[in-house]
Amino acid sequence: MEVHERIDGFRGSLDACRADGLVVGFVPTMGFLHDGHGSLIRRAAAECGAVAVSIFVNPLQFAANEDLAAYPRDLESDLALCAEMGATHVLVPSVDEMYPQPVLTTVTVAEVSERMEGAMRPTHFAGVATVVAKLFSMVGACRAYFGEKDFQQLAVVRRMASDLSMPVEVVGCPTIREPDGLAMSSRNVYLSPDERQTALVLHRALDAGVAAVLAGADHARGVEAVMAEVFATEPDAAVDYADVVDAATLAPLEGLVPGTELRLIVAARVGAPRLLDNAGVVVPPR
Ligand code: AMP
Repeated sequence: MEVHERIDGFRGSLDACRADGLVVGFVPTMGFLHDGHGSLIRRAAAECGAVAVSIFVNPLQFAANEDLAAYPRDLESDLALCAEMGATHVLVPSVDEMYPQPVLTTVTVAEVSERMEGAMRPTHFAGVATVVAKLFSMVGACRAYFGEKDFQQLAVVRRMASDLSMPVEVVGCPTIREPDGLAMSSRNVYLSPDERQTALVLHRALDAGVAAVLAGADHARGVEAVMAEVFATEPDAAVDYADVVDAATLAPLEGLVPGTELRLIVAARVGAPRLLDNAGVVVPPR
């Protein structure tokens, strides 16, 4: 496994892989890797001849009041997991290497970026889209693997790659969970044992919302009310949103039409960290 601190060496090495006829898989991360990241790397390794991973905590996607300085890091263990899961190339750039000059060029994706996380964190998705555009430009033509755990991010990246004709196939991968249902996240490390129990309310709310859809709920507000009721049982979880949207466009919905693929998306602060989760369900026939 090659570990690159410099962009030029990383780019050149992946160009050589493609010249040898290999398909390049790419998994961008912010490090502190867990089995959720591992599942993306393993899938890339199963489907591609070369597997690039980037580990970079991107300052551009954190607002001034957010947890950039406190974001957990453990490079040694990250590199061990990358090697074990089949990565062939890892990029670990410094902030100066990624942003040697003030950034005057940014990428914003309208509409899909605007609600939910975008409403809570107004500069977040421009920071994500800009760094992912830079990383795609370094990696070149590839299949890029993203987790459904960050469902809105996946939609933003997919739309950016399509709108800007990037030579990248964006692949969404299922959310990996702890045995009790909590979605794996680097930020779970901040949860105290009590908060860890409280955090299960995200998964419970989604389960109840999905059950309501399958039981015949015919309006998005009704399903959102079911999720809000579950959150109300855990006053220690501060809900930011619990929304029902169209899975393809992330547009808010009113009446639920049979056959429509929905995404139920929730975010809540539990103790220090904000936690995100989501679930998919198709509106059943009536
Ligand atoms: P992050 O390091 O949080 O920026 O995440 C890097 C990539 O891993 C993103 O595509 C995430 O959606 C994905 N990811 C994070 N947690 C999970 C999880 N529990 N299951 C699947 N993918 C995940």
